[in-house]
Amino acid sequence: MSVHTPASRADASRGHDEAAPSFKIWINGKLYDKADAKVSVYDHGLLYGDGVFEGLRSYGGRVFRLEQHLDRLWNSAKAILLELPLTREELARAIHETLQTNGLEDAYVRITVTRGCGTLGFDPKHAADPQVIIITDHITVYPPEFYSRGLEIITAATQRNNPSALSPRIKSLNYLNNVLAKIEATQAGCMEALMLNHKGEVAECTADNIFLVRDGVLLTPPTDAGILEGITRDAVIELARASGREVREVAITRHDVYIADEVFLTGTAVEVIAVVKVDSRPIGDGKPGPVTQDLQERFRKLTRD
Ligand code: PMP
Repeated sequence: MSVHTPASRADASRGHDEAAPSFKIWINGKLYDKADAKVSVYDHGLLYGDGVFEGLRSYGGRVFRLEQHLDRLWNSAKAILLELPLTREELARAIHETLQTNGLEDAYVRITVTRGCGTLGFDPKHAADPQVIIITDHITVYPPEFYSRGLEIITAATQRNNPSALSPRIKSLNYLNNVLAKIEATQAGCMEALMLNHKGEVAECTADNIFLVRDGVLLTPPTDAGILEGITRDAVIELARASGREVREVAITRHDVYIADEVFLTGTAVEVIAVVKVDSRPIGDGKPGPVTQDLQERFRKLTRD
C-alpha cells in the first residue's frame, strides 16, 4: 500500500516514533491505545489472510463516499461468506467516533475485518468472533513534487490475480499479489507498477486504477478486466463526464499505454496523479498533461470545497 504516514516512516527506521501522536484504535466496540490494540495469533485473518478491508479518507471531518466504501466492504465480505458482526450504521458511527476521539479531520481510515479466532486449519467453519478494526491516522502519500512532476512506473512481470482464482473485486486481506508487484516496482526504483491481467491486458496498478487519455477521450479498463472497482475511479469518471469528456471502459493493451497522450492513476490514498514514464518510455511529452491537471483540480474541489 502506498500510504506512508509519519508514524509508519518512523516505525520503519526506528521501531517507533516518540513524537508521533498515538491514535486510539477501535476494535469491536472499544477504543484501545495503539500498544494494546491486538488480535489473537489464532485469528484466521493473520493465519490465512482470511478477511477483508477498506481504505477510506476523511476531508474536513467528512468521510468521502462513505456509502460506496461500505457497499464495497459488505460485498467483499459477502463474496467470502463472512458475516459482519455489526450494521452499516453502527460501522459508520464507529468510524466517526474514532476520528473524533483522535481529533482527526483530514485522515486515512483503515477498516479491517478478520474471520476471527479459530483452529490451526483454515476451514472458516472453525473460526468465530470476527474482529472489526478501525485505524485512523494522518496521511501523506507522495511528496508534492511527485504530483507536479508525475510518476515513473514499470510493468510488473507478476500478473494480476486471475479473477477465476481470486477476484480482484474482493478487497481481501491477502494482498500478496500486489505486494509482489510492488516489490518489482521498488527494485526498479519506481513507486508503482502496472499489472496486466491473465489475458495480457492492462488491469491496474498495485494500489491504484489507471486511466489513459487519447485524443481527449479517457480510456480505463472495465471492471471485468480483473481490477478493484475503485471508488476514486468512479468519482473521476463522473467528474470527467460532467465536464463533457467522453470516458470509455475498454480493454487496454500496453501498446495503448505507450502511445497515450496522458496516463494517470486514481486511488483513495493518491487521489489523482500523473504518470509520465512507463517502462522508461515517456508518455506524451513526459509531463503531466492538461486533462490530468484539470481532473486533479476537479477532484480537489469535490473533496475539499
Ligand atoms: N486497485 C487496488 C488494487 C487497490 O488496492 C485500490 C485501493 N487502494 C485501488 C485500485 C483504488 O481504489 P479506491 O479508489 O477505492 O481507493
